[in-house]
Amino acid sequence: MKSELKIKAIENGTVIDHITANKSLHILKILGLPDDDIINVTVAMNVSSKETGRKDIVKIENREIDHQELNQIALIAPKATINIIKDYKVVKKDQIILPEVITSLIKCTNEKCITNYENEPITSRFNVIESQPPVLRCHYCEKLIKNEDIEKQFE
Ligand SMILES: [Zn+2]
Repeated sequence: MKSELKIKAIENGTVIDHITANKSLHILKILGLPDDDIINVTVAMNVSSKETGRKDIVKIENREIDHQELNQIALIAPKATINIIKDYKVVKKDQIILPEVITSLIKCTNEKCITNYENEPITSRFNVIESQPPVLRCHYCEKLIKNEDIEKQFE
């Protein structure tokens, strides 16, 4: 028997839909959630979806998430969509777009990179070379960071 998981509608907040199946916990790490200010974060994993077969959904109550922050989700879930909810209604629907530059979120995998110096480390900065799957190039040492390396950092 097939059962469909229904998750409670939220009054105000952000719903991130069409997350690649089983990647929702990576997404929470990217967004630094849950944190103390968040009243409620609901995660649905491996839900059946007409378009993609399986997907994850994250619902964050009482917080609208900054667009820049949301776009970084594209590193892990390129097909994710964002719904902003007010009074139980979707007031804004958005596709996320991987930014051309990613700063501070990811660590360079080159131990000798200037961004990994123990004394005076500087903020990491990567140029996005490819988006699906993502490949990044370190702005400082030019090391290529591939999809697997990115995912590992959010496990
Ligand atoms: Zn580097």
